[in-house]
Amino acid sequence: MDSRRVRVLILGSGPAGLTAAIYTARAQLAPVVIDGYQPGGQLTITTEVENYPGFPEGILGPELMDRMRQQAARFGTETIFDAATAVQLGSRPFTATLGGGSVLEADALIVATGASARLLGIPGERDLMGFGVSACATCDGFFFRDREVIVVGGGDTAMEEALFLTRFASRVTVVHRRDELRASRIMQERARSHPKIAFIWNAVVAEILGSREGGVHGVVLEDTRSGERRTVPTQGVFLAIGHKPNTELFAGQLELDAAGYIVTAPDSTRTSVAGVFACGDVQDRVFRQAVTAAGSGCMAAIEAERWLAEQGE
Ligand code: NDP
Repeated sequence: MDSRRVRVLILGSGPAGLTAAIYTARAQLAPVVIDGYQPGGQLTITTEVENYPGFPEGILGPELMDRMRQQAARFGTETIFDAATAVQLGSRPFTATLGGGSVLEADALIVATGASARLLGIPGERDLMGFGVSACATCDGFFFRDREVIVVGGGDTAMEEALFLTRFASRVTVVHRRDELRASRIMQERARSHPKIAFIWNAVVAEILGSREGGVHGVVLEDTRSGERRTVPTQGVFLAIGHKPNTELFAGQLELDAAGYIVTAPDSTRTSVAGVFACGDVQDRVFRQAVTAAGSGCMAAIEAERWLAEQGE
């Protein structure tokens, strides 16, 4: 099996991983970034990023990530288009086995594997994913031109997805389990004032109806107060109910909290294993922004550099 040793291995290529790469590359640590299952991370499936400092007109998510990648490469970062399928953190050097079969040994590891869209776990959902069910409006919205769709969730993502879908769909209905949105005021106002967006309050989707051949044709909604069920016709279901951290690889090796996030020391990216640092959404259940992910990627890089120096390496 092909194996090689690197100073700093970074798992994940979103804002956290690539910022850690920029900093460790500039510190002459020749980092290697493993892209992961979603190269560039979640920003590659968004459209406009309006709140990343330095881009007063906004910037497209994929373009922002492309720029970060170029910046990391400029200082000597190597990126590998593969994903880690197993890690060994019990002794140093740490090892990561990639899907392609190669093994990387690392003196220090930076975990930036991010988070993925949460699913409802209801009948029809997995089966119809890609056949009328989606967790990414910017990826799939185009297929719903002049159709009616629903968006599930009441957070900023749900409002963003609903607004984006108005470009294609004839009508967008947001289904939320409470009668109050979690989304920020500005996003709420944009969605509430849009003529194509309607809301169904106090309801959850209990089942998605359709077939792979014919697509989605409806959902069964359950009223969260009365428990009453009714069928509502729709041709698309977009899930926007939050995210879960991508930490399956680390279970039993790094300390995780009850929700599965990697636990880091206060004001630090240090994990429960010395020499392993975690940054970005994989350890942040509070802020989850591109800029905070990038900030913690910088912290991880500086902490990894100092830790390697303390080891005399
Ligand atoms: P959130 O966790 O903020 O919201 C998730 C939403 O889904 C909530 O309304 C929640 O309901 C609902 N929900 C969760 N589980 C279920 C379920 N099983 N059934 C039905 N509904 C469910 O996640 P987001 O992805 O919206 O946002 C994550 C973070 O990213 C936030 O900090 C947000 O501010 C930020 N963000 C910012 C954007 C921007 O500034 N433009 C754009 C997108 C995200 P309930 O409210 O009842 O808990």
